Amino acid sequence: MFWDPDYETIDRSELERIQLERLQQTVRRVATRVPFYKQKLAEAGVTPDDIRSLNDLRRLPFTTNADLRDNYPNGLLAVDLDNVVRLHTSSGTTGKPKAIFFSAGDINRAADLIARCFIMTGVRKGDVFQNMMTYGLFTGALVMHYGAEKVGCLVIPAGPGNSERQLLLMRDFRTTVIHLTPSYALYFAGFLGKNGVDPKRDLALRRAFVGAEPHTEETRRKIQESLGIEVYNSYGLSEMNGPGVAFECIHKTGMHLWEDHYLMEIVDPQTGEPLPEGATGELVLTTLTREAMPLLRYRTRDVTSVIPGKCPCGRTHRRINRITGRTDDMLIVRGVNIYPQQIERVLMSMPSLGHNYLITLSGLDEMTVKVELAETAFDGSVEHLVQLQNQIVEKLRAEILVKPKVELVQSGTLPVSEGKAKRVVDQRVL
Ligand code: ADP
Ligand code: ZN
Repeated sequence: MFWDPDYETIDRSELERIQLERLQQTVRRVATRVPFYKQKLAEAGVTPDDIRSLNDLRRLPFTTNADLRDNYPNGLLAVDLDNVVRLHTSSGTTGKPKAIFFSAGDINRAADLIARCFIMTGVRKGDVFQNMMTYGLFTGALVMHYGAEKVGCLVIPAGPGNSERQLLLMRDFRTTVIHLTPSYALYFAGFLGKNGVDPKRDLALRRAFVGAEPHTEETRRKIQESLGIEVYNSYGLSEMNGPGVAFECIHKTGMHLWEDHYLMEIVDPQTGEPLPEGATGELVLTTLTREAMPLLRYRTRDVTSVIPGKCPCGRTHRRINRITGRTDDMLIVRGVNIYPQQIERVLMSMPSLGHNYLITLSGLDEMTVKVELAETAFDGSVEHLVQLQNQIVEKLRAEILVKPKVELVQSGTLPVSEGKAKRVVDQRVL
């Protein structure tokens, strides 16, 4: 089933024709309306008329995170302010926020892409959608909300946290689909277990959409098994409307990226040079249909690759792999490059371990991994715990090539954040 079959299964050559047309319009638009781009294009020696094929994309300048902050609040706006109907911001962790503006058309197109995603995973009018993401300046909840309404779901704008209330809503309104961060999904599964709720027996849940933070296949499996539902990976970022940029179909073999709205490139994060299809690198996106705030070649810093070949679902939009992290997520510990996802993969594959963990870097280069035990794991014997601890240390060492300290803690004792999980605390004296 498709929301928009003509576009979702469009012929690649027709798709490329549309992409070029939209790219040309976008470049023309920013060259005339956004002084920042006018200057950038002049510096790169490119005019809108120079964009004659999709290959000319690489002549365009990149846009970075820093450009968005430097042009805060409205330096990148391409419409008059009275044509803007919504403002979101993307926080990041430090410094000024990034302001993201939406015209009425942008809101509508973003909702339409979400509708594609919902229908693609089997959600229909009549489904009950409990949105457990943070409402507010963050795009994650509202953009999904609008898309879900478009599909005709009954939307419950629950927001995150307060697991008792989530459960009450789920029971009373027979929620079938939830949307939440993977870290909250893990926590929530633990919460149900502790309260003697068997989701398969007591709830009507069928699907979960998880996104907003990197997570591994092992985490997905853990959520699926503990909640007894299908879990789909959902990718997006505020700069590109928020969620609905790329999403898994029922085959769960990578996320279809909606290429009639976003032009993708995978580049070498160091040199910015485009990489061959299939290679892993930084995802760079150009908006093709954004009105209020189009962006050219935006450096997402998200690391992924394009999956070659066709998807059995019939959609012609290419798929990207699970995001393994951001280019700036990499930790260097004792000279070794480590991605937090490597640690997560090990922890989530061990049944005796629970749902939450925290990596702390301290002193000169000490790594401590605190991890919660599964509810059922503790038989009270210290020997058992020491054995488990050693086993984790060994598995981690084999994966990351550094020997961390491992501390086992009781289930439910590590901090849970309402928004995105904070998995790494770096307190090193450098
Ligand atoms: P910020 O986190 O900077 O405030 P956003 O709220 O717009 O910005 O979050 C977008 C970022 O969240 C993406 O660039 C990516 O790093 C991360 N993200 C979103 N969805 C996923 C996903 N499914 N898998 C991994 N990372 C994701
Ligand atoms: Zn597919």
